[in-house]
Amino acid sequence: MSRLPVKTKRHFPSTSTGSDNDQEMIPAQKKVRTDTEPVKPQAASTIIGSRRPVMAARKAAVSKPARGTEAATVCAGPSKRIVKPSVASAASARGGNVKQPVASTSAKAGVTKRHAWDLKGKVSDMEGKISNYKTKIKSANQENEVLKETMLLNQTEVSELKRQLESQRRQISEYEQELKALSGVQDELEKVSGEKNTIQNELSHLQDKYKVMETLLKSQETELQTLQVKLSVQESTLTRVQETLRDTEEEVRSLRERVAEQKDELHAREMERRQLHNTIQELKGNIRVFCRVRPLLDGGPSKHIQLPASDDKTITLAKTEESHTGKTADTQKNYNFSFDRVFGPVASQQEIFEEISLLVQSVLDGYNVCCFAYGQTGSGKTYTMVGNEFDETRGVIPRAVQQIFRASEKLGTQGWEFTFTASFVEIYNESLRDLLYTGKAKNRPEHEIRKSSTNEVTITNLTYEHVSTEDQVLGLIALANENRSTAQTSQNDLSSRSHSVFQLDIEGVNAGRDIKCKSTLCLVDLAGSERMLKSQSQGERFKEMTAINGSLSNLGIVINALANKENYIPYRNSKLTYLLQGVLGGNSKTLMFVNIAPEPDSFKETLNSLRFASKVNDCVIGTASANRK
Ligand code: ADP
Ligand code: MG
Repeated sequence: MSRLPVKTKRHFPSTSTGSDNDQEMIPAQKKVRTDTEPVKPQAASTIIGSRRPVMAARKAAVSKPARGTEAATVCAGPSKRIVKPSVASAASARGGNVKQPVASTSAKAGVTKRHAWDLKGKVSDMEGKISNYKTKIKSANQENEVLKETMLLNQTEVSELKRQLESQRRQISEYEQELKALSGVQDELEKVSGEKNTIQNELSHLQDKYKVMETLLKSQETELQTLQVKLSVQESTLTRVQETLRDTEEEVRSLRERVAEQKDELHAREMERRQLHNTIQELKGNIRVFCRVRPLLDGGPSKHIQLPASDDKTITLAKTEESHTGKTADTQKNYNFSFDRVFGPVASQQEIFEEISLLVQSVLDGYNVCCFAYGQTGSGKTYTMVGNEFDETRGVIPRAVQQIFRASEKLGTQGWEFTFTASFVEIYNESLRDLLYTGKAKNRPEHEIRKSSTNEVTITNLTYEHVSTEDQVLGLIALANENRSTAQTSQNDLSSRSHSVFQLDIEGVNAGRDIKCKSTLCLVDLAGSERMLKSQSQGERFKEMTAINGSLSNLGIVINALANKENYIPYRNSKLTYLLQGVLGGNSKTLMFVNIAPEPDSFKETLNSLRFASKVNDCVIGTASANRK
């Protein structure tokens, strides 16, 4: 790697002799050798101490460390070719690596043989030789010293080199580790480059997208501009509209104030209307009697009942008595009766109801209203009160309920809230029966009439059903009819011998004005009023007859006593009057239908019924006249 340091080749002392390597490594020395003139033998000492011998000595020290001084001297020679004869011979004698011819040449050139006698000469030669050797030893010693120094230097250098080597090894291992790490880095690099490719792809994708977005942006900018123009138009429109709104709000506020004022006025008028309505009802009489003649079942005219066309308040019962002898003309006896209204056989259920709808209005105004149907069995009492299921033939109860619910809805807009509770009870033989009972016959509970401290009359164990729609009430009427007919099959036309009382309790609250009202509408289908000869009735029938007669005549007495404002009203004398005491008298409105059967054989019963009703009607007249005073 490029980061690895490049070491320059160092010049280490070689252990080999005369190799090519040596020549490569020390080219300068080689040159020196070539250029230098051959050294003279006596110049050996001169050579020692120069740079060149050091290198030679180094070589010798390394290659032949065990040799003595001579060897060192030989090695220190300036050339392989030119060696001092003495040295060469010494080396040769010891088997040194010196070429023989050179040695012999040196011997010939330097020593001349002395004569045997020339001892002096020989001694001087020897002395010369000795001094020569001494010099050589001296120089060898010097050389040795130098070599020692050099060796020390080399040792230092070697240890330095070792240290360097060690540090380089360490560095190499560091580099190796670094290399390893770098190979990890390379993997990472590859991964990163892969990622880079992905990112680049993504980038190009995004760039494409960007271009699309740019186009989109441009188009949106154009659109925005258009919209801004539109907005400014709209804003100006809005400002105009806001102004109009402000005006309108002002107008609404004033209108609201007016509405509130008008509501107050309406309420005042409503209260006034109630009062006037009540006054009218009182003037008409708090007890009123209507007579209704049932049509003949075969549709023909009834001869003994006469209803004047000019008048809708009178009815005449005509009885023709045949002459016993046949010589005189038949005599006709007329019984005239007048009531608040007389309805002929063609009067529809609707016409009948119109007359009493004013009283139904009184119920919502907070007055108690009680309506009876009186008459012999088959005279049309049930038809009048309940009627048939078809709309036109529906009787007073469903129509009254309809009117009450509709009127209560209207009053709802004036802040009134109403709750309605319905009950249906039958009185037979002075005992009470729940006509809305849905349990098992054997579990039918006993009932008792209870009067609270506030004079409210309730019946124990009776079903009081909360109702809010006409349909619910129609369902209850159907249930009551079912309960009555079940009893009929077992007790032979029980319905004609029992009173059935439908009661609707109404509670109204006008929270805004803190007004409450509570009233009851009571619609009663009385038992058949026909009298039976005492001789004809026995046992249970006699008991029934006594009960019916007793309760009906007591009803007459109570109404009379109420009309005469007597102190004592005998409510408790019968279950019927005891039950109805809350809705009879006081500010209550009472209406009695006297139903007439038109058949000639019902003449006597008709006369009885009209007489009874007439008595009640007389009470009414008394009250009315009293009001006139
Ligand atoms: P009550 O209840 O007095 O015993 P109903 O109401 O049962 O008498 O009447 C006896 C029959 O006469 C029934 O079939 C009834 O439908 C019918 N009826 C009574 N009054 C009318 C009338 N005004 N128009 C037509 N049919 C009538
Ligand atoms: Mg009936």
